[in-house]
Amino acid sequence: MIVSKFGGTSVGSYAAMEHSAGIVASSADRKLIVISATAGTTNDLVALSQNELSSTLKEELLRGIEHRHLEIIDQLKEKDTARSEFQLLFSELRQHMDFLGRDKRWKDRLFAFGELMSTKIFVYVLREHGVEAEWLDARKIVKTDSGFGKAVPDLNVISKKAGKLINADNIYLTQGFIGSDIFGNTTTLGRGGSDFSAALFAEALKADTLEIWTDVAGIYSADPRIVKEAQPIKEISFDEAAELSVFGGKVLHPATLKPAIRAGVKVRVASSRNPDDPGTLVVAESEEKPVIRALSLRKDQTLLTVKSLEMLHQHGFLAKLFQTLAEHKVSVDLVTTSEVSVSLTLDTAQNASNKVELSQQVLDQLREFCEVEVETGLSLVALIGNNLDTTAGVSGTMFTMLKDYNIRLVCHGASPHNVCFLVREGEGEEIVRILHKEFMG
Ligand code: ASP
Ligand code: MG
Repeated sequence: MIVSKFGGTSVGSYAAMEHSAGIVASSADRKLIVISATAGTTNDLVALSQNELSSTLKEELLRGIEHRHLEIIDQLKEKDTARSEFQLLFSELRQHMDFLGRDKRWKDRLFAFGELMSTKIFVYVLREHGVEAEWLDARKIVKTDSGFGKAVPDLNVISKKAGKLINADNIYLTQGFIGSDIFGNTTTLGRGGSDFSAALFAEALKADTLEIWTDVAGIYSADPRIVKEAQPIKEISFDEAAELSVFGGKVLHPATLKPAIRAGVKVRVASSRNPDDPGTLVVAESEEKPVIRALSLRKDQTLLTVKSLEMLHQHGFLAKLFQTLAEHKVSVDLVTTSEVSVSLTLDTAQNASNKVELSQQVLDQLREFCEVEVETGLSLVALIGNNLDTTAGVSGTMFTMLKDYNIRLVCHGASPHNVCFLVREGEGEEIVRILHKEFMG
């Protein structure tokens, strides 16, 4: 059994949907299809959720969303039925916009319209390709807590519900990204969460393979928009791919691999534009284990440095610091410490799946027991590979290559699969190009 997920660009137009439907039709093993909202729609919905929105802008955004979907519908054979189904959903969206209590719960319900609309339409495109898929409301299966905006799925419940509602003789089409809590409120799994949804379905259904169809030919040795010579990786281990998804490679949502690893589901990342190209296979153990497999860059990073003399020969300071951050749900990526200070990096990028908001409140609370400094405008560069903790010479080479740049912080040794460091935003891309050339030819 294969679970196939198609991202926003793979369902972003009628032509893209046709390509994707053709892929689904080409193997009878594809039993569950998970799709994202059409490209750009979730961003528009996020814009619509903003409080300061003027009524002109609101109308413009709504029209844009409507137009994008109607353009696809107009090319369908069954366009009349599809249009009336869509209009019904779209008027629900308009009604939802008139609602006053705009809290996080309201936002998640709003964001869910993206995936609901795309799946409504894609059923028809699948039918045109001879695939009779049953439209499945993911919220009936993907049960989560009530952490709106980034809800945590409950795997046990998901497995039970999937076992009950999904029959392996049929083919289903469902939404990525969305779920519901025990009260039936719609929740979302965080931006880019459709991959994660698909992985949860794959785990619950004990699928053999999870396919992630996207607009690039797999996972690359570096972002090809930054490094022209970057190449798709044929095979990569779960460990390396997990580091890569956390440290920048936007190809996979960072949480995607956890369910796949737990259930031993193989993951294939490939381009829906070029389905014969094998793309990248993510497996438990890869045959080759190069020291450096890939480089990644993540922009908009924030460095938080806290200092306190209290730390000197004391215990409990780090506990207090992390306790405070945990209370405010601030997720930390890298940590380095000296005797009297601790530096932490936070992902503050706008569309990060784990975006951190550093509120005045958390800063005030930290300032009660230490000095706090916040630096922005930084980028995180990561080298991903194998045995990086025990291979001589990697950091030597790296530092030599980068002797003219200021490296703000380095993390090395915690994982055999990565070395990473912070640099000035403006220099990140250049540094990635230099290192790619040095390590990957
Ligand atoms: N539509 C959602 C987003 O854009 C989820 C996804 O595409 O994975 O974040
Ligand atoms: Mg994505």
